[in-house]
Amino acid sequence: MDIRSDFHTHTNISACGAPDNTLQALLDGLCAGPDGVRVLGVSNHLWDSDVVGASPWYAPQNVPHVLAIREELKTADTHGARVLIGAEVEFTADCKVAITEEHAKLFDYLLITANHLHMKDFIIPSWIKEPEDVRFVLISRFKAAAETDLPVRCGICHPFFPISFKDTENEILAGITDEQYAECFELAKKHDKSIEIHSSALNPHLPLNEKGFCPEYIRMLGVAKEVGCTFHLGSDVHRPVLEPNLRLREFTEYLGIGKDRLTDF
Ligand SMILES: [Zn+2]
Ligand SMILES: [Zn+2]
Repeated sequence: MDIRSDFHTHTNISACGAPDNTLQALLDGLCAGPDGVRVLGVSNHLWDSDVVGASPWYAPQNVPHVLAIREELKTADTHGARVLIGAEVEFTADCKVAITEEHAKLFDYLLITANHLHMKDFIIPSWIKEPEDVRFVLISRFKAAAETDLPVRCGICHPFFPISFKDTENEILAGITDEQYAECFELAKKHDKSIEIHSSALNPHLPLNEKGFCPEYIRMLGVAKEVGCTFHLGSDVHRPVLEPNLRLREFTEYLGIGKDRLTDF
């Protein structure tokens, strides 16, 4: 199967992007060459200034800042790839998406992030440490993100990845039942949210199978597949490297998710 898309990538306009990772560098790294990506979504971090409560890190990463990439795109060599301008939009501590409906329309698509759990005392209270409590946060925030309705097609990025809980990550995931996952993914399907197939499933600190994929993420995505969700690939690269996308293509094939279930937004 020829899967050649990636909808979760960052350039240097994200505060965490590599400084030399311009849009052109990203296009050269991901889209040039025989295995290059044919549909590229650029999704820099976003918090709309019209939504109160941005952290100091988010404040400069507002709508005009993120949309400036459209200017860069005008003169860029896309190597024949179709380029979509999206954003990775934050979900506030009280479970609201950090963009207005009006501004959402300015993007080709949006990825909603419900689990930036490394943002302590901003996204989650720092006292939350026990796997049971983390699971509660992951599930409740996923559901709220899934139910968000915006006037643009949305995906949910890095679903259930308990960022910053590396030591207990597998334990956290293992404690989420198939029924709990199904409930979450039913909501995502009902509200037309694409589920991201993300590089978190390939992290070497996790228990991995013979193919290098984490069984807990396989189970989670398997439930989403069973429920009938649609999917997109998201390497989440912050540098111009194709390798993570190539691995995700293998992972998608391994999951048995065919082109009919992949969205291009
Ligand atoms: Zn993220
Ligand atoms: Zn990201």
